[in-house]
Parts: sequence; structure tokens; C-alpha cells
Amino acid sequence: MRKLITSIILSGVLCLSALAHNDDSHFENKQDVTVKVTKVSGNVYMLQGRGGNIGAIVGPDGILIIDDDYKVVSEKLRDALKELGSASPKFIVNTHWHGDHTEGNEFFGKQSIIVAHTNVRKRLMDPPVIFGQKTAPYVSFALPMLTYTESMSVHINGEEVKTVHYPNGHTDGDSVVFFVKANVVHLGDDFFVGRFPFVDLDSGGSVQGLIRNIDSLIKTLPADAKLIPGHGPLATITDLKAYHQILVETSAIVQDAMKAGKSLEEIKKTGLPEKYKDAGSGFIKTDVWIDTIHRSYSKK
Ligand SMILES: [Zn+2]
Repeated sequence: MRKLITSIILSGVLCLSALAHNDDSHFENKQDVTVKVTKVSGNVYMLQGRGGNIGAIVGPDGILIIDDDYKVVSEKLRDALKELGSASPKFIVNTHWHGDHTEGNEFFGKQSIIVAHTNVRKRLMDPPVIFGQKTAPYVSFALPMLTYTESMSVHINGEEVKTVHYPNGHTDGDSVVFFVKANVVHLGDDFFVGRFPFVDLDSGGSVQGLIRNIDSLIKTLPADAKLIPGHGPLATITDLKAYHQILVETSAIVQDAMKAGKSLEEIKKTGLPEKYKDAGSGFIKTDVWIDTIHRSYSKK
């Protein structure tokens, strides 16, 4: 029973953000939406609206963007892209299926070719329950037209944009996108700078997988790579290492408590050490993060 109450409270807390995926009324007017453009390196940019960070490469071949934010942002995003050279991107890569990274598909999808891991297309055709809510399937022109399973490259504006699947981290369809020449990487929601991440266990995500993916990225990325996280400011490998340490340490704390026979309620009551207070001040609070770790490590 207590478990049931906890999950009801949990979905109550998170349901506002879930509704926001499909209901613009939870945002301010479209007029209040802004898109901030930051030059990252060479012809690679980061754009920030209301949802996930957008990556872009611009030039004579047209524009390729990584993710396309909520639909409430679409018009402002189009205006910002027009300033960068073209109002309609030639390619859109979806790092995963969540609405704060893909709702713009509907606005841009008739003109642009949408690229994603094969599981993203599946999820958008039949969205899993998220924060206790079931969202509508995407219309066909808003679905990825090109899908891949391991990796694929788009060659555009003198750059190789390499999209690589990292399995079962944030979801089961996560892409990390490398701008090889510019040495810029968009990590999607595998990376929340300095904060506990949202791990979507109902979409095939797992804490163990996320830790593994970040570990492998730390080992392979050049030390001076510029990192665009799914959410938060432009970051570095040092930030990624700090985030990895938070994931590893907090998971170990919860696992040790589980091994010692503590119940979820007891673990939450004890909480995490003070040094992780800041990490729990974002979208995912400490209680929710403990819940996620517990659920992820309880799965067989
Ligand atoms: Zn996400």
C-alpha cells in the first residue's frame, strides 16, 4: 500500500511536466518563448528553447539539427535557424523519443528528413507511459524517415556528423552525435550537467547502462571535446567525469543499503550525503533518483 501511495505522489509531482509534452497551456504564451543561440565551434551551434538542447551545423549544404524541442518552441526555432541560414533544416536527428526533444518533428517533418535509432521510431508510433501518462502516437510525417541500429554518418558542410547508438541508458533508443572535425559532441539526455538524470526505465533505460555508456564516452572522447548536454549549459569532459562520479557513488550507496536489507522507504529516509544536495536540486530530486536506482537495480 505504501508503495502505491509513494507512486501516486511521485506521478502527481511529475505529471505537470508530462502534460507539458502535449499541452502548450502549461507554458507561458508562445511570445514568451525565446531561443538562445550559442556558437560552439566553427559552424556548430547550440540552441536553447524550453526543452532539450539543440545542436546545429550550418553552411552551404543546408542545416542539420540535433533534436527539435517542444512544439511551442517551433516558430521561434524556425526564426533562429533562418538567421543561421535556412528556416527549414535539411536533416533532423532525434537523440531519443521524448517530447522535449522531438515535438518539433511535426512542425519541420514535411520538409526535413528525420533520422533516429530504430527504437525511436517504434516509440513514437506507440509511446510508452511516461510519468503515468500515455501520449498520442506521432503523425507519419513527424516520424524518423531514416533509422539505424548501430551508427550512421551524415556528410554535410565539410563535416562528418556521426550518430552512434548507446544502448539502454536514458532510454533504449539513445543516440550520441559526434561532429568529428569540429570536436563537438551532443550527448542527448545521457548527460545532465551536475544533476541527477532522468532515467526512463519504462522506455528501456537503466542506471547501470547509463553509467556504462558514460564510462565508455569518458574513455574515448578527446580531452578537449566540447559537450552539448541534453539539458544544462555547454560542458567539458571534466563536467562529464564529475557527473559520472555522482552516478557511480550514489548508485553504490543505494546498492549497499539494498544489500544490507534496507527497505526503499528506509533508504529514502536516510537520503544521500550532503555533497549531493546540489545534484538533487534540478528536475530529478533526490527522492526520485533513489527510487530510480532502487528500481533499476531490483530488475533482473
Ligand atoms: Zn529525455
